Amino acid sequence: MTRRAARPDEEASTTDPRAERPGSDPEPRTSGGLRAHNRVRLLRAVHDTGARRTRSQLTRTLALSRGTVSVLVAGLAEDALLDETPTQEHTRGRPTGIPGPHPYGPLALAVDLREDSWDLAVCELGGSATIVRSRTHDGTPEGALLPLAAAVRERLGPRTVGVGVSVAGPVRAGGVIDIPHLDWWDVDVAAHMRLGDVPLHIANDARLAGLAEARRGRLHGVRLGVHLHVAFDLGGALVVDGRPLSGASGTTGEYGHMPLGGGRARCRCGARGCWGMAVGGNALLRHLGLAAGGGRGWDVAEGILREAAEAAGRPAAEAAGKPADAGTDARTGSGADSRTGSGTPPALDPAAALAAVRASAHAFGSGIGALVNGLDPDAVTLSGLGVELHSLAGDTLHAACQDSLMAFRRSRPVRVLPSSLGRRGPLTGAMEAVFDGFLTTEGLGIWQRPPESATASDSSARPGRPATPASY
Ligand SMILES: [Zn+2]
Repeated sequence: MTRRAARPDEEASTTDPRAERPGSDPEPRTSGGLRAHNRVRLLRAVHDTGARRTRSQLTRTLALSRGTVSVLVAGLAEDALLDETPTQEHTRGRPTGIPGPHPYGPLALAVDLREDSWDLAVCELGGSATIVRSRTHDGTPEGALLPLAAAVRERLGPRTVGVGVSVAGPVRAGGVIDIPHLDWWDVDVAAHMRLGDVPLHIANDARLAGLAEARRGRLHGVRLGVHLHVAFDLGGALVVDGRPLSGASGTTGEYGHMPLGGGRARCRCGARGCWGMAVGGNALLRHLGLAAGGGRGWDVAEGILREAAEAAGRPAAEAAGKPADAGTDARTGSGADSRTGSGTPPALDPAAALAAVRASAHAFGSGIGALVNGLDPDAVTLSGLGVELHSLAGDTLHAACQDSLMAFRRSRPVRVLPSSLGRRGPLTGAMEAVFDGFLTTEGLGIWQRPPESATASDSSARPGRPATPASY
């Protein structure tokens, strides 16, 4: 059976025990179907709660009997889908354990592909993600995607259940992407990656950061949320009941290309006056008269933030910026991307750097207020450089937001919150997209326990699997 890239206009096959949303597995009609349904629910609960809940807690969460859960756990362990860690706790005199990832269990590969670099992580059930490769690239599709594809293929094996790729640009039907900064137009990522029948989930970075925020961050349990991800420029996601909306062509959330920034200059996307031209790394560079717009200069933008932090007398990136650390864990929210701290920025005037940060924060806050007027969300979350803008110039950001709000909204302003996931949002979202495709009766139905010699890098033959698209 042939795999293909997930189409953004398809309904995702996602099961979430917290929501039991439409689009989940259909209601089972047989005892075998009920067992398969409950296997999905149990694995989903283990994954969504970070593999930290005891069997007793999961039994209560899922409203199943203790005996049923015991049988399910034993069966899932036999299939190498779960492994239970003993604890010191007892429930009604009986020991309980913590179900978590199995040493030969399913693995998701997650990629964060940015304008100048990428990270590749291996992820387990429960959300643990370990970055195994990071590279800069030359900004061309071939220069970025061919080494990335080679690194991904090296990691494929019997345990691989899919590859999730976050990209810094709009993703259209069939996984075709544009990255205006780099003059990438109609780039077919799947064709470059050549991963055969391995499920490939390609989505926009801001959309995936929003998905991660809904699953493991500050949009968890929020009915209507707006997530804004700031990198070189600005993207977003409209998250409804835990899922980013897709839209007619899969590109809902391109808020950075709405005329909210106050300017009239032509953006590389083709539109005029885009908000993203006033918010993000490129905006900081432009404000100081430095070259901007070609997917280069990240280290300089980081330098501007450091100088601004010094001028403001506070640490930069309280929540987001620590040096890259291969091996950090997505569940902790620690770690940063591979670009942080690289290169030596030109000498910068701290006062001018702080002025640039404040100008960007002002434009950011002003646009957030406009979005709130139109969308009426329960919360707005910020990731990437948005966390630094909030940390370094939060007063400017909130004042501009408040000033943009309709008068009746000002008495109860919306919550604007920095992400709790550090800079791992897009990578974590790429992982979630893969597990959303796998944690279904269809996905589990074709899972086969790998040989005990299988490792994450084992590239021996894999069982064929049908397509399980998850679109974001
Ligand atoms: Zn634009």
